[in-house]
Amino acid sequence: AKQAGKNGYHLFDVAKDIAVKTQRETLEHIRIALDKKEFVLFYQPKVNMRTGEIIGVEALVRWQHPQQGLVPPAKFLPVIEDHPLSIELGDWVIDEALNQIERWQAQGLKMPVSVNVGALQLQRSDFAARLADQLLAHPQVPPTFLELEIVETSALKDIAEVADLMRACCALGVHFAVDDFGTGYSSLTYLKRLPADLLKIDQTFVRDMLEDPDDLAIVKGVIGLANAFHRRVIAEGVETIAHGELLIPLGCELAQGYGIARPMPASELPQWALQWQPDAAWRNLA
Ligand code: C2E
Ligand code: MG
Ligand code: MG
Ligand code: MG
Repeated sequence: AKQAGKNGYHLFDVAKDIAVKTQRETLEHIRIALDKKEFVLFYQPKVNMRTGEIIGVEALVRWQHPQQGLVPPAKFLPVIEDHPLSIELGDWVIDEALNQIERWQAQGLKMPVSVNVGALQLQRSDFAARLADQLLAHPQVPPTFLELEIVETSALKDIAEVADLMRACCALGVHFAVDDFGTGYSSLTYLKRLPADLLKIDQTFVRDMLEDPDDLAIVKGVIGLANAFHRRVIAEGVETIAHGELLIPLGCELAQGYGIARPMPASELPQWALQWQPDAAWRNLA
C-alpha cells in the first residue's frame, strides 16, 4: 500500500473526507430527528400458520422523514451502529413498544411485542437496570409481553457477559429470541449458553429453501437444533403458501413474512388481527 502513487492517496483521502463528512451530517440529522420525534415503529405479525393464532408482532423502526418519506432502517441504522445515538434510539424503541402494548391493551387487544436490540445497546452495563425502570414505568404491561431479539454476531463478542445480562433481563420476566439464526458462526455454543426461548430462522434460507438443497438443509438443521435444545423456532421471510407447506410438516409452524403480512402502522393491527386467517392449505397440514 505504501507504493501507491500520490494521486492514489489524494483521491482516497478526498473520498474519505466526504464519507466522514456525510457520516457526521447524517448523525446530526438523526439526532435532530430523535428530538423531533420523527421515528416511528411499524409492526409485523408473527403467527402460527396451522392454528391461525397470532403470537405477537415484531416492532420495526422507520424514519418518517419530512422530505424523503418513510426511510427503512437499513438506511440509517448502520450509520449509528457504533455511536451512542444507537443507544438513545434503542431506548426510545423499547419505550414506544411498551406504550403501544398499553394502547392496544386499552383497545382490548393483548399483543406481545418483540423489539430488536443492537450490539452497542446490549453491551451497556446498565441495560438491565434501564429495562427494569422502563417496565416499572409501564405497570399495566406484563413483562412477558416484551421480547428482545438479539443477533448472533452481536452477542458473540463476549458470550459470558451477554449471557449474564440476558439472565438479569429474564429475571424481570422478558423473553429473548435469537434473530437471523444460522448466519453467525458458532450456533451450537451460542445456543447452549444463551437463555433464548426462540430461534428465528434467517429469511435468506427460507426464501431459497425450495430451490437450494443447502438452504433447505440449514432450515431443517435449525428446526432440529431448536427441538434438541427445547427452544421454539420461527421462520422469517415466509412469502408464499409453498413456504408454509414445506415448513409445517418439518415442525416449524410459527412464521413471519410478507406472505402473512407486511409490517404495518400500529393503527392497522387491530383490524388486521380481526380478519386474518391462515391459508386453507396450511390449516389442513398436521
Ligand atoms: P430483522 O429484525 O431480521 O427484521 C426482519 C426484516 O425483514 C424487516 O425489515 C422486515 O420488514 C423484513 N421482512 C419481513 N418479512 C419479509 C419477507 O417475507 N420478505 C422480505 N424480503 N423481507 C421481509 P426492516 O424493517 O427493513 O428491518 C431490517 C433490519 O433492521 C431488521 O432485521 C433489524 O435487524 C433492523 N432493525 C429494525 N428495527 C430495528 C430497531 O428498532 N432496532 C434495531 N437495533 N434494529 C432494528
Ligand atoms: Mg428482528
Ligand atoms: Mg431477522
Ligand atoms: Mg436481519
